[in-house]
Amino acid sequence: MIVMKFGGSSVADAACMREVAALATEALANGPLVVLSATAKTTDTLFEAARRAEAGDLDAALELHRGIIQRHRGIAEDLFPAGLPGELDLALAALGAELDLLLRGVALLRELSARSMDAVASIGERLSTRILAAHLGAAWVDARTVVRTDDRHGSALPHFKELNSLAAQHLAPFLGPGRAVVTQGYIGATASGHTTTLGRGGSDYSAALFGAALGATDIQIWTDVEGVLTCDPRVVPEAQPIAELSFMEAAELAAFGAKVLHPATIQPAVEAGIPVTVRHTRRPHGRFTTITAEVRTGRPVTALAARGPITVLTVSSAHMLNQSGFLASLFQVFARHRISVDLIATAEVSVSLTVDADAPLDALLEDLSAFATVGVARDRTIIAIVGERLKLTPGVTGRCFGALREINIEMISMGANEINLSFVVRQEDAKPALRALHAALMERPVGEAQP
Ligand code: ADP
Ligand code: ASP
Ligand code: MG
Repeated sequence: MIVMKFGGSSVADAACMREVAALATEALANGPLVVLSATAKTTDTLFEAARRAEAGDLDAALELHRGIIQRHRGIAEDLFPAGLPGELDLALAALGAELDLLLRGVALLRELSARSMDAVASIGERLSTRILAAHLGAAWVDARTVVRTDDRHGSALPHFKELNSLAAQHLAPFLGPGRAVVTQGYIGATASGHTTTLGRGGSDYSAALFGAALGATDIQIWTDVEGVLTCDPRVVPEAQPIAELSFMEAAELAAFGAKVLHPATIQPAVEAGIPVTVRHTRRPHGRFTTITAEVRTGRPVTALAARGPITVLTVSSAHMLNQSGFLASLFQVFARHRISVDLIATAEVSVSLTVDADAPLDALLEDLSAFATVGVARDRTIIAIVGERLKLTPGVTGRCFGALREINIEMISMGANEINLSFVVRQEDAKPALRALHAALMERPVGEAQP
């Protein structure tokens, strides 16, 4: 079997849904599991409605609710001009009622926990999949019966073992050649049945999880670009599709901000050795990217990515001088506050490190102040240059520094692995930096790699 995941822009309206249905029908012999995102902008609107409710503006929240439900009914009516099938009509009504109740509850308590937010957010994927399943005449499976996660609402972690047996129990019986099954990306549930989400953009991760659990032969990510490009085309219009990527390169690009893939997507695919392809829903016969374990691209530079905003913390302490164990006690503080660190650079009496912009810093800074002084620089961006033979190729760093000569580089990281060179720049410098690097590295060949 194969997994076909379609993102929000691929199911934006009835015309898009028809294209998705046509692609799933074309692949019917492979027994596709179709994993859908919410329709374009729906997740953002659900977040907004929940926040309005929390602020006590129930009218505004319910207005957004009406907009979401009307838009989905509009798509369904376009697909079923002779009238909605009873089951679909009931499902849409039930989801509308559930969202209404959730928003009223949030407004009444003026309290929006991460758990409530996940319950609200799940409505998006549940709506889109109901419509597509009815249009395709396919089985609809509630992903929450399969994707068992922990209770970190908003960015839950899957329990792989249970997920495998739940997929065998709740998905496998419906799958087979000649049949399509439709389920949701992004959502899961804890053992006690509370709805969770895998983090924004998490449907890619769901697709990989389902693919690994079911032993798929291909995990297809259908989106609005012809595969993974040499840079985000919205920033660098000259970016070109990449035909083949190694798992390592793809994982690194996703982790450093290439939004085309959720950062965790590659991990289940690597473990199960399943190729991932990234394709354009509107140009199904156009170019696409294949990501496999076997691919050796041999390229010094494959692509650029950027992640921001991030915050740089510079921790300074005289205790660092000739002291062993300083870094251990420093990172213990980060672990205690569950704040993860990306880039690190050390000097004699200071350490610079980057954390997510929304990391809860107040309590962390208070703890750190016990043994160090901390400088905080917000609104920064990490720029990553990724290529399988980056470290082995003379001239790449020279080319990078040349391209960035007008830009202030605040932090550099290279060498932790062979394939990633990262810079921290101010957020406003990120676009010019990416454009300059793309012109210097991707638009003319970089020197030969050393064996
Ligand atoms: P979907 O809704 O299908 O999941 P996303 O918006 O999450 O789609 O991801 C696709 C978008 O990712 C593209 O429209 C593009 O702007 C952005 N993107 C960022 N980096 C890259 C890259 N290296 N290659 C292709 N697209 C990229
Ligand atoms: N609908 C979710 C989001 O917008 C998940 C996804 O699209 O992958 O983040
Ligand atoms: Mg996405």
